[in-house]
Amino acid sequence: MSVNKIDFKMNQGKLFYLAPDDLNKIFEHFKSRGYKVIGPTVVDDAIVYDEISDVKDLPVGVGDEQSPGIYRLKSRDDGAFFGYVVGPHSWKRFLYPPILTLFEARRENGNIKISECNDEDVKFLFVGVRACEISAIMILDKVLGGGQYVDPVYIKRRKNTFILAVNCNEPGGNCFCFSTGTGPRALAGYDIVLTEVILNDKHYFTARAGSDQGEEVLEDLGFREASQDEVKEAEKILSEAPNKFTKRVDLTNVVEILQSNYENPLWDKIAERCLSCGNCTMVCPTCFCHNVEDVTDLLGQVARRIRRWDSCFTVEFSYIHGGSVRYSTMSRYRQWIMHKLSTWKNQFGMIGCVGCGRCITWCPVGIDITEGVKSFKEVLNKI
Ligand code: SF4
Ligand code: SF4
Repeated sequence: MSVNKIDFKMNQGKLFYLAPDDLNKIFEHFKSRGYKVIGPTVVDDAIVYDEISDVKDLPVGVGDEQSPGIYRLKSRDDGAFFGYVVGPHSWKRFLYPPILTLFEARRENGNIKISECNDEDVKFLFVGVRACEISAIMILDKVLGGGQYVDPVYIKRRKNTFILAVNCNEPGGNCFCFSTGTGPRALAGYDIVLTEVILNDKHYFTARAGSDQGEEVLEDLGFREASQDEVKEAEKILSEAPNKFTKRVDLTNVVEILQSNYENPLWDKIAERCLSCGNCTMVCPTCFCHNVEDVTDLLGQVARRIRRWDSCFTVEFSYIHGGSVRYSTMSRYRQWIMHKLSTWKNQFGMIGCVGCGRCITWCPVGIDITEGVKSFKEVLNKI
């Protein structure tokens, strides 16, 4: 069954009040039911998604600074649990694993024994999912879970995932989800969404259910309803967030503009700094390209067919009987942007970018997708 059939409610229902430690009650609730709790945590000076067990594992009092090609953590003096934006990881790595054994062939007593995909049965509680990331998951739902051919591993993992989202109060330096219409407030696609309020000496969350399961959790754990003042305080913070974006881009007609400028020399200019490293595709929460490889052990006893994330920035990715169809870096860069912002719409009815800004932060030379779009618009305005 397609994951698109999951029924999420749009923002409705009452708001609950949670003290910071109440998040642990939610973690325990899911742990006792066999879920892995996956959330943001600090590893090697970056905020990544990993297994956590307590609110103390969150990046408490940690913020981040992001600009093209730059990422660094900084201390905050307010003890915020979610005072940073997205890092190098996305939830894709848990729903669509970077490496997956599709099947294994093993010699046994003169016969060949085939074992099918080894994917474990796992249930996830995702903690701190941002609005842009929910949109990215919904895009993957369409790509991997919709249509005639679906990815059974993705569907199984997705159906066993509970999304505890958090609204963004402070967009980062490379965030532009307001321009893509995918944030900063989560409107749908979550089971529970939190808003973090830190005001004077108060620190609390408001929580709203977005699914029946989310509603059951909030009711079963006995949280009280938020007071009118608490609702107002949270709403004020959320309504101010859109004004804090420093990066904006007008995406009107971007699909048509790119498609009608396939041979424009501007592509060479934009791509001349590109190293073809593929970082942008690895960190992007919606990129789904992969390669399939066969590997054998040295004794010839075991062979495995493996699915591994790949990138349209590698020459081999477009290899077709005798050669690659995208030898130049420019052609690979153009393919990526054209797909994200244009032909994706033809395939899936939406663009493939949610404005998370990861590709801008993690590009070693700081190439900025929003500046690329602006350059095309400027050139066309002058014609
Ligand atoms: S293209 Fe860049 S900004 Fe858009 S979703 Fe991917 S990583 Fe985020
Ligand atoms: S745009 Fe940046 S991150 Fe992407 S392949 Fe080129 S150099 Fe690497």
